[in-house]
Amino acid sequence: MIPITVVEFGEDAERLVLEVLRSGNIAQGPLVRQFEERFAAMVGVKHAIAVNNGTTSLVASLAALDLQPGDEVVTSPFTFVATLNAILESGATARFADISEVDFNVTASSLSSAISPNTKVLMPVHLYGQIADMSEISALAAGRGLAIVEDSAQSHGSTIGGRHAGSFGLGSFSFYATKNITTGEGGMITTDDDVLADRLRVLRNQGMRARYQYELPGHNWRLTDLQAAVGLPQLDGYDAVVEARQRNATYLSDGLAEVNGIVVPTQLDGRRHVWHQYTVRVTPEAGIARDEFVAKLVERGVSAGVYYPKLVFDYEPYRSRPDVIIERYPVAERVVREVVSLPVHPHLRREDLDRIIDAVASIVSGR
Ligand SMILES: *Cc1c(COP(=O)(O)O)cnc(C)c1O
Repeated sequence: MIPITVVEFGEDAERLVLEVLRSGNIAQGPLVRQFEERFAAMVGVKHAIAVNNGTTSLVASLAALDLQPGDEVVTSPFTFVATLNAILESGATARFADISEVDFNVTASSLSSAISPNTKVLMPVHLYGQIADMSEISALAAGRGLAIVEDSAQSHGSTIGGRHAGSFGLGSFSFYATKNITTGEGGMITTDDDVLADRLRVLRNQGMRARYQYELPGHNWRLTDLQAAVGLPQLDGYDAVVEARQRNATYLSDGLAEVNGIVVPTQLDGRRHVWHQYTVRVTPEAGIARDEFVAKLVERGVSAGVYYPKLVFDYEPYRSRPDVIIERYPVAERVVREVVSLPVHPHLRREDLDRIIDAVASIVSGR
């Protein structure tokens, strides 16, 4: 079976974890600080604040913006449930903007139509490893006086015009086990804003600035040095990981270009796609239903993922809440029935890639 993700660490991570274990300082300490500094440098921002997971980084970002009931956050309907849960946790109302079928992300024009007088935050999700059109979206936010929270959980290192995901407002990253950079569980918030960064650091640590000096009711959102020891060494090798993912994506797209009804993903001009997922669309011309296509891939030894099988609000707990405003999203409603993610990770060999291409081609041609 060709797996959809492989989790593997180098000797440098093993050594650093052992060092932390032997130091006896296993909670938040100097390695978390180093991880933050290195991550901020990679994203090109002044501050990075490490937290215990990616959902927390979204929740914390919205908490730092001090939203009030009735304030609205506009996001993508085509995302992981954490995006929506974080908005509801903040006490705000969620609205959605339709996506583009080209990059699977919200656009400035769809966001613009979803903005209401109550809108306070635009929350694009950089899905599958490709940053949304942040040049346009940040211009829109600036023009309307709105904050930006980028759900960059899947897009560490993705850029547009050379500028990184997470550098346009508050950036929110995940280091969950399957993400491009991982600490098992973990998250990071990035920002150039000194005041927000300071508030986030205080909120992360029980609202405490100095020992027993509490400024506001806070949380325990801390990451540990053990986790930072796993994450830090991955930053050195990350460009090579992205290059391997890009090579695999190009090879798959070349091999699948002629397959009828399969639409391969594209890296848009001026953007760096980091290929967290390689996601094709199985369109009606393929002559096979998406779920049957996935089942046949698995029969042929290729694991495939459906991210995501339904729009984020299309589950019982979200359907009839006044703080979840559901409208029609024609592109997202279609795309959600068509997407299939194929393995693209750096551990694939040429023969694995050929097997994936052959499996897709033979299933679609009915062989
Ligand atoms: C993974 C993910 C999250 C949540 O991150 P966790 O670390 O799992 O809490 C949020 N948004 C998106 C789009 C994700 O893929």
